[in-house]
Formats: sequence, structure tokens, C-alpha cells
Amino acid sequence: MSNENGSSAILRRGLMLVLSSPSGAGKTTLSRQLLDNDKQIQLSVSCTTRHKRPGERDGVDYHFIDTATFRGMIERQEFLEYAEVFGNYYGTPRAPVEQLLGSGRDVLFDIDWQGTQQLRDMDTSRADLVTVFILPPSTRDLEKRLLTRAQDPKEVVAQRMAKAADEMSHWAEYDYVLVNRDIATSLNNLKSILTAERLKRERQVGMSTFVKGLREGR
Ligand code: 5GP
Repeated sequence: MSNENGSSAILRRGLMLVLSSPSGAGKTTLSRQLLDNDKQIQLSVSCTTRHKRPGERDGVDYHFIDTATFRGMIERQEFLEYAEVFGNYYGTPRAPVEQLLGSGRDVLFDIDWQGTQQLRDMDTSRADLVTVFILPPSTRDLEKRLLTRAQDPKEVVAQRMAKAADEMSHWAEYDYVLVNRDIATSLNNLKSILTAERLKRERQVGMSTFVKGLREGR
């Protein structure tokens, strides 16, 4: 894979970028814009048992599956992590993530704090993990965004507001924290995080070969 150093000859290990936030903090918009901007990172499409919202597409936003199918996948250990959120199951299918990382691509995860903890606890993924927590600028702002999204019934919005305080208490478990005052600034900050993390020495697995070549006058 090509490198932020500008050379396609230097191999780099793929990383797992996790975004978490209370719903309504702008995480979905941010992740979509990041994916549009950066072709080296791909979204991990989660499975969920919740109903599809207007505008959502099966296989793109989520794999919408029923509870029996989800439980079968749990039993066959087909999830990298899974959790129950707002009374529904959400989980990250293992195979596509392993395939992407194996081919040196970066993977973006839009998952909650429970899923992030599970990824952190896995010996195999810890070195590849970069976690970012997104906070809203205020409670009023969070409620406004949930209401204007208008995709969920009023009682679901109330339930999500009640849960937000709980979710936000996990901010200190993350590597980076962004207060999402405006999307353009947050997107720039997110891109900076990604650039710096890609440049970490231990991720540039092809660097020793490259430097050896330099020292030999190539
Ligand atoms: P929503 O229903 O608004 O799409 O998502 C609700 C919450 O579930 C969000 O915080 C989202 O990040 C989280 N979520 C989505 N997919 C997954 C997943 O695969 N695993 C976990 N642990 N959480 C997820």
C-alpha cells in the first residue's frame, strides 16, 4: 500500500480506526465524509437486528438481519465484537475486517464503547487500534440533532438522550477526543489523526527495506 511519505514502494500495516460517540454527535456524517475523502480506508459494515431507517441501504449502512441469524453468527464466532445497544444487537463481522487488514488497507469502525473495549481486549488487534471519541458541543445541540434527524420515533429520541450521558462517560478510554462544533474542522482533525497514525514507525513495515536501499545507494 502507498505511504503518506509519498512512496508506493514502502509497505505499511493497515490500522483499525474506531469512532464512537453518543448518537446525534455527528459521527455518521463525519465517517461518510472521511470515506469519501480517503480511498485507503474502508468502512466495516456491521450487522444489526434493528429496523432499517428511511434512506439506509442493506449491505451499505448495515447488514440488516434477524435475531436468530445474529445468534447463529455469535455461536459460530463470526463476530470480531458484538453488543446490545438500545435493545438491538450490533456486531462487526470478522472475515471482511481480517481480509482488509491482511491486504494492508485501513478499516473504519462506527461502534459503541462496548465494542471498542472488546477490540482493545483482543491481543491480535491492540497494536493496530486507533480510537477516537466524538462529543457534541452541548446537550441542547445533541437533542436538536436527534430531533432534526427525524428518523426515529419521539420515544426513541428520548431513550437515546437518556443513554447519551452514560455513553459520554467513556470518553477517557479513547486515544483521541474531538468536540464536533463544525463538521469541516472535525473532518480535518480526523484526517490529521489518521495521517499521523499512518506515519508511526511501527506501522511502516517496509521502511527497513527502503532505508537499506537508500544506504546502498539505490
Ligand atoms: P444506530 O442505531 O444509531 O445506527 O447505532 C446505535 C449505536 O450502535 C451507535 O453508537 C453505533 O456506533 C453502535 N454500533 C453500530 N454498529 C455496531 C457494531 O457493530 N458493534 C457495536 N458494538 N456497536 C455498533
